[in-house]
Amino acid sequence: MRGAIPDHLRRFMSAAKTLTTALQLLMTLSPAFMTLAIAEAEHAASRGEVPVGAVLVADGAVLAASGNRVEELADPTAHAELLVVRAAAALRRTPRLADCDLYVTLEPCPMCAAAIALARLRRVYFAAYDPKGGGVEHGPRIFDQPGCNHRPEIYGGIDEQRAAALLRDFFQAKR
Ligand code: ZN
Repeated sequence: MRGAIPDHLRRFMSAAKTLTTALQLLMTLSPAFMTLAIAEAEHAASRGEVPVGAVLVADGAVLAASGNRVEELADPTAHAELLVVRAAAALRRTPRLADCDLYVTLEPCPMCAAAIALARLRRVYFAAYDPKGGGVEHGPRIFDQPGCNHRPEIYGGIDEQRAAALLRDFFQAKR
């Protein structure tokens, strides 16, 4: 049956598929969710936490939102990403969140990247890159490790300026 579809039609179908994928991405990437993540980062800064915020989204709705709570909970693992993954998993009573997308204001660290793989998140949108502490595009690049069983789609640099400015201001004020 291959020959039944003329070449020009096949080319058109392939282009349409690429366009559909691009449109789907545009539709799923909602700037509102990153804005919400940045608001969580601002709240975190006002509590004296490193200003990182995260939002977990499914079907266009927020399942969980949080900033870092390391100081508040006296918990070195209470990063924003881990907190929203835990909250959403508890809410849904399942450890697998394969239909969920994460919006986070900073490139996830190796610990959070490993948790993202375990939770099988669908997509990760992050704002600022973290050459020192990041574990996705920097350092151990967790998702590229052979032992990593799940690699989400990754989109970095979204609303990067705002998120990076927050972190810069926070650390400048500390000095
Ligand atoms: Zn982390």
